[in-house]
Amino acid sequence: MLFTEIVYGPIHSRRLGCSLGMNLMPLNGKICSFNCVYCECGFNTQGKYTLPKREEVAKALQIKLEELRAQGITPDVFTFSGNGEPTMHPEFEGIIEDTCQLRDQYFPNAKISVLSNSTQLGKESVVRGLMKTDNRILKFDSAFNETMKLIDQPVNENYSVEWLTERLCSFKGDLIVQTIFLRGEHDGKTIDNTTAQEVDAWVNALKTIQPKQVMIYAIDRATPVKTLEKVSKEELEQIADKARNAGFTVSVAG
Ligand code: SF4
Repeated sequence: MLFTEIVYGPIHSRRLGCSLGMNLMPLNGKICSFNCVYCECGFNTQGKYTLPKREEVAKALQIKLEELRAQGITPDVFTFSGNGEPTMHPEFEGIIEDTCQLRDQYFPNAKISVLSNSTQLGKESVVRGLMKTDNRILKFDSAFNETMKLIDQPVNENYSVEWLTERLCSFKGDLIVQTIFLRGEHDGKTIDNTTAQEVDAWVNALKTIQPKQVMIYAIDRATPVKTLEKVSKEELEQIADKARNAGFTVSVAG
């Protein structure tokens, strides 16, 4: 499923409420620094694509906000997500600044959130942009490199859990960690980040990162790998309880 607009919705998000979607990636393909087996947009598309320019994003947002105001609809949150990784946009920081300004003008109580896979945290402008938002919701799918690579399939082979953990720690707790839990098989290998060993290591990683909140969730829509299993709400709650017992605030979207 691809998003066909720069600004879409608002849609009801399991995790965020009435959410106005912001897509900084192409409208006719998906570009990402991961190639997650569970990605609702499918696997990465090859080829040359055009990204929307900063001015186009601001214009599209302003038009949408005018429409919403005329319809009496108030979004809870502006959410950057879309057809790939939003922080890969070269004008990410400037787009966040424009979005903050338009939010203040039209819906000052709405939050600005970014759903990010964390891969671009080595860029100072990306970190600055993220710090201008209300919620940085950063992906951490396994504390083990082998599992992370099976689930997320990072394009950069050198990407590692150690690098990621260090970057997440640099937010000094002012971040939300997001983790999907799933089981399945891909390319003849078993994928499972729900085992006791996985969950214990994940909780230990949270103790190091100290996020202000944790969001865990299960597959919700069709995935490019068809053998993946949706973990039940009950099982997610059991996993959440392990993190709660360690002192974390955890929300569950089953
Ligand atoms: S990080 Fe997000 S957009 Fe990128 S492949 Fe994974 S689920 Fe899809």
